[in-house]
Amino acid sequence: MVAVVNGLSAIIQEKELKNSVHFEKGRGLRQVVLPHDLCDKFLTAAGMNTKKKIETCGVLCGALVGEEYHISHILIPVQEGGPDYCCAKHEEDLFFIQEGLGLITLGWIHTHPTQTAFLSSVDLHTHFAYQTMLPESIAVVCAPKYKQTGIFTLTPIGLQEISDCPRRGFHTHRQDTALFCDCSHVTTQNIMVTVTDLR
Ligand SMILES: [Zn+2]
Ligand SMILES: [Zn+2]
Repeated sequence: MVAVVNGLSAIIQEKELKNSVHFEKGRGLRQVVLPHDLCDKFLTAAGMNTKKKIETCGVLCGALVGEEYHISHILIPVQEGGPDYCCAKHEEDLFFIQEGLGLITLGWIHTHPTQTAFLSSVDLHTHFAYQTMLPESIAVVCAPKYKQTGIFTLTPIGLQEISDCPRRGFHTHRQDTALFCDCSHVTTQNIMVTVTDLR
């Protein structure tokens, strides 16, 4: 009897997995391919800040290769950060570098030096801007203290919630449903990322 129940739950899990893949395909999302050393390289560049419990952020850039988006670069802008925030300064510098290298924006990455990997209310609003520009955009959160890495996207309800939310700074959103989730349109590849640090 137990075996049957286990078998059934395995079937259900497989079905859910397939559904989530279909769901992503249903949204027409292209795969995003990450270099395997993305987080390690970023954490190395962020090391000094992380020691001081200050967040670090970077922009993920790359190109459309066939039907996939390939991330090849992390651009780390001049920035201002604290234990729970980080914002880029002179964003126009990034624009010129991207133009010069022919790179498009595919998402962003930041550290949580003292917290777990999740998207705060401020992060949700930041990612909303990325995901509105490109639905495939990803938000990578590296939480070295907990040895966690999250690769997130806003759910359809999350997009709606943030689109309707006029608030800024840290605040609360609806709690009854997930506003972000793990990406299912991401794979890693055995290629190396290039870090361009403007600080
Ligand atoms: Zn954050
Ligand atoms: Zn909000």
